[in-house]
Amino acid sequence: MGFDETIYIVGAGLAGSECAYQLAQFGYRVKLFEMRDKVQTPAHRSDRLAELVCSNSLGSMTDYSASGQLKWEAQQLGSLLLDVAHRNRVPAGMALSVDRELFSGEVTQIIQSHPNIEVVRELVEDLDQLPRPTIIATGPLTESRLQHSIENHFGSEFCYFFDAIAPIIDRDSINMEIVWQGDRWDRGTKDYLNCPMNEEEFFRFTDEVARAEKVTPRDFEKTSFFEGCMPIETFVERDPVSLRFGPCSPKGLVNPRTKRWPFAVVQLRQENREATAYNMVGFQTRMTYGEQVRVFRMIPGLEEAEFLKLGSIHRNLYIHSPKVLSQDLSSKKDPLLFFAGQITGVEGYFESTSIGLLVARFLRDKLQGHPLVPPPRASAFGSLLSAITEERDYFQPTNINFGLLPFVPECGNKRIKRERQLHFAKESLKDYLGAPPAP
Ligand SMILES: Cc1cc2nc3c(=O)[nH]c(=O)nc-3n(C[C@H](O)[C@H](O)[C@H](O)COP(=O)(O)OP(=O)(O)OC[C@H]3O[C@@H](n4cnc5c(N)ncnc54)[C@H](O)[C@@H]3O)c2cc1C
Repeated sequence: MGFDETIYIVGAGLAGSECAYQLAQFGYRVKLFEMRDKVQTPAHRSDRLAELVCSNSLGSMTDYSASGQLKWEAQQLGSLLLDVAHRNRVPAGMALSVDRELFSGEVTQIIQSHPNIEVVRELVEDLDQLPRPTIIATGPLTESRLQHSIENHFGSEFCYFFDAIAPIIDRDSINMEIVWQGDRWDRGTKDYLNCPMNEEEFFRFTDEVARAEKVTPRDFEKTSFFEGCMPIETFVERDPVSLRFGPCSPKGLVNPRTKRWPFAVVQLRQENREATAYNMVGFQTRMTYGEQVRVFRMIPGLEEAEFLKLGSIHRNLYIHSPKVLSQDLSSKKDPLLFFAGQITGVEGYFESTSIGLLVARFLRDKLQGHPLVPPPRASAFGSLLSAITEERDYFQPTNINFGLLPFVPECGNKRIKRERQLHFAKESLKDYLGAPPAP
């Protein structure tokens, strides 16, 4: 394909706008479809591109955080949205927060005036309505007709509509003098870490869950949950004891220190191959972030827990990317149909933007006949990509966090370990950018 042909992008949110800009800068002509001056989503409020639907923060930008590392890499890769965010920054400590109106206003102005981009204000209803190459960047609130078309393409078992995220904890912060490793009925796999609670601890905990401040669901997020992904506060509202018959069941879990089943148990399941991160099994919640930290640290063994990610529940269309997408984020069924942004299973404004940026590079390379050169696994971009493309049984959306960055061998304390992870990430990205173009 030559540069005179057109690339189609559906959705001018964060991922779609970044992707369109990158491709346009590479010299391609882009048609960018956005429905919002005709059809609104339940969360957007304007027809501007790259609108932030909730908080105005793009996350931490410290050089000792995983989120800051992602931004550092995005800067090396020439992210437009990062640039615009810096220009429209508002004071927010170490976080990159923006004046949302100025931010989306400037992105809109840059995209609309770019000579290689045409913004088409139309709803796209069907994946096959557009020629190829096409990139779908319609986000967590993809309009329902297109959502059905995506379901038809992949099969409905590969599409999810809700995010019920349980918190994820740094393994090093778990007190193994209280917690023990083992499995239910002692089947010999020892896959879980078990936090035991006696009766008094359990009821003190459920009292605080009941009392804790919760995020109020928006109208379109009010739903009845499957029993399998019910928030823990719903258990507690029904009857605190019901938690003991659900996520906190102690059955078959013999505490090796007491040789008995505890009154209740919170189980932690390995989250990554390196076993540096563990998720709290069945602990999806709508408690506010601050309250989650306070209340979950009441669980024996988690007093000093460091949360790599906190729990949440919200509407979110995403696809089972590891099964249905190739490593370049194109459909395994249609190699010129790409997906970008939150719909691929990343979570968060800047993660979505980053995937938009990556897909632009992947599509350019494919169109030029180059083999895929993914960002290195050690980098934050590579880690995010591997989180949504490596096959796993338990796939749930993720933001960037230290648990995704590759394991570094034991090297003293956590601070040193993280410094090394970030050092490897930076060095690997420098190599990647310095590498000669693929033949
Ligand atoms: C309610 C809610 C609150 C959130 N709050 C936060 C937060 O505070 N912080 C955070 O980091 N992340 C948050 N997220 C998560 C996520 O990072 C954002 O949703 C982010 O905007 C995703 O970027 P995106 O580009 O993938 O999708 P979006 O930014 O949503 O862009 C998708 C675009 O596609 C358009 N579109 C959809 N369907 C069609 C169609 N058929 N035809 C044409 N156009 C279409 C939409 O109008 C939209 O402009 C939130 C998500 C939701 C749903």
